Amino acid sequence: MMKLNLIKQDWINKFNKPLIISGPCSAESKDQVLEIAKKLKKINNIKIFRAGIWKPRTRPNSFEGIGEIGLKWLKEVKKETGLLIATEIANATHVKLAIKHEVDILWIGARSTVNPFTVQEIAEALKDTNKIILVKNPINPDIELWIGALERLLNQGITKLGIIHRGFSTYKSLIYRNPPNWDLALKFKKLFPNIPILCDPSHICGNKERLLEVMIQARNFNYDGFIIETHCNPDDAFSDSQQQIQPSILGDYIKKLNNHSLRLKETQDKDKEKSQFELDQVRNLIKELDHNIIYLLSKRVNYSEQIALIKKNSNLVILQQKRWKTLIEEYKKMGTQFGLATKFLEELFKVIHKESRKIQKKIINL
Ligand code: PEP
Ligand code: MN
Repeated sequence: MMKLNLIKQDWINKFNKPLIISGPCSAESKDQVLEIAKKLKKINNIKIFRAGIWKPRTRPNSFEGIGEIGLKWLKEVKKETGLLIATEIANATHVKLAIKHEVDILWIGARSTVNPFTVQEIAEALKDTNKIILVKNPINPDIELWIGALERLLNQGITKLGIIHRGFSTYKSLIYRNPPNWDLALKFKKLFPNIPILCDPSHICGNKERLLEVMIQARNFNYDGFIIETHCNPDDAFSDSQQQIQPSILGDYIKKLNNHSLRLKETQDKDKEKSQFELDQVRNLIKELDHNIIYLLSKRVNYSEQIALIKKNSNLVILQQKRWKTLIEEYKKMGTQFGLATKFLEELFKVIHKESRKIQKKIINL
């Protein structure tokens, strides 16, 4: 049996770098897909058109995709523009229909990668296909699940593979809809440098504002390309209207990205600037952790407020010294196991605890 880290992925070399897949979140009408595709066709580097035909929506009673008729429209896009066509498949029937309508590139969505039964069903339906199959990360940051999905495809003789980093679900997101986990994606890249990796800034951001920033970050990490949502009238889109941009804006972003790449190439030749580049990469990873820290602190404040209400209602004192002492000892012990200095932990938790008492006092004295 062929191993994942041994298969050569020549398919990516047939495209210019960065490879760009673009089109609407969902196919809505024949005119809509054709209008977008014609505009995308004029942009350098865009050779693949995307559109969702079956949409995995979080809640029922929203637009769940146009279904098979949309595949006919995609075929029309291919015929009229020469663009290759790509869509998401989530079960064996989707696979059968997508193949029947000559879809060139199929991807497994984040909500499918998460389920081994679904991935197995898709892999068996795709058996021995020569088509390019892209696998989005599962919604939870589990690298084994992601690798497992690719192995299931490989076990069915499917060898033209690639992955898409589209960010990970959180209970409550601060600035991203699905915060990226560059660290995990880079781990994947290190384990399988042969597998092309694309970034999906649209589903990471969930809005238009940070798309370019995320694209530049992915470029700095040497991603092979992007899958990004475009729509001629984003505000009227049937799904994901907040994150879709007009094709002309994407054209502008690609130019900016190319200029960035040129500068990057120049700087990578100079030692000093190379260290600056490496520094920036690690800074990005730290920033991502800081975002998590801020989010966790906000949750902690929430609990402090809940505790204050309970104490107020039952006339309990704010500071329960004995409990605090036990806790801080436990945290210090745990921190030591992770290589953190005891003094640092003590000081950090003193500040956090002080803030918590302040918040509680305010509520109790209301
Ligand atoms: C999509 O690409 O439109 C989509 C549904 O994405 P994801 O699987 O990342 O949620
Ligand atoms: Mn979408």
